[in-house]
Amino acid sequence: MKIICIGRNYVAHIRELNNEMPDEPVLFMKPDSALLRNNDPFYIPEWTNEVHHEIELVVKINRIGKNIEKRFAHRYYDEIGLGIDFTARDVQKILKAKGLPWEKAKAFDKAAVLSNTFISKSDCKNPKAIPFKLNINGAQVQEGNSELMMFDFEEIITHVSKYVTLKMGDLIYTGTPAGVGPVKIGDHLEGYFEDKKLIDFMIK
Ligand code: ZN
Repeated sequence: MKIICIGRNYVAHIRELNNEMPDEPVLFMKPDSALLRNNDPFYIPEWTNEVHHEIELVVKINRIGKNIEKRFAHRYYDEIGLGIDFTARDVQKILKAKGLPWEKAKAFDKAAVLSNTFISKSDCKNPKAIPFKLNINGAQVQEGNSELMMFDFEEIITHVSKYVTLKMGDLIYTGTPAGVGPVKIGDHLEGYFEDKKLIDFMIK
């Protein structure tokens, strides 16, 4: 199982980090050791002073595919979940300035929070426009909707599968909307998919 992440997929988030608009999806990966499930607490690593939350919709791949055509891409996933792409922003800034890969800032242990529950497309009110949000200590900090993605689920699957064979169980984190910011010890994070709370855990 691999975790593929899409960067810069929501215009308002690209603007808040002063990044360039991509003309194709930005890709990076996390290893399976990055997964944090079961609403377990997240412990801030000692080597960073700035871990940012990035709430994201997560597509679960349900069969093997390579060079998938866009018109068939919808057949490669049935379920969508919710995740947080934790990012050590201080470390990432240094890596970006040097033109280096982002793994130290993105792929570290427990940097990929994942909901235990996934929602099937047929159970979504509108699978083309899924609202989602993140609350910290009861206050909303991020809000997104999949209809605002620059590259939709099908385009992402098509693009990724040009480079990397997709396999059953692979996860694609599809990018974060605006509102990213730091977490601190004692914070209570709650993530919502439509009106369903799928993520609920503490920062320690
Ligand atoms: Zn992200």
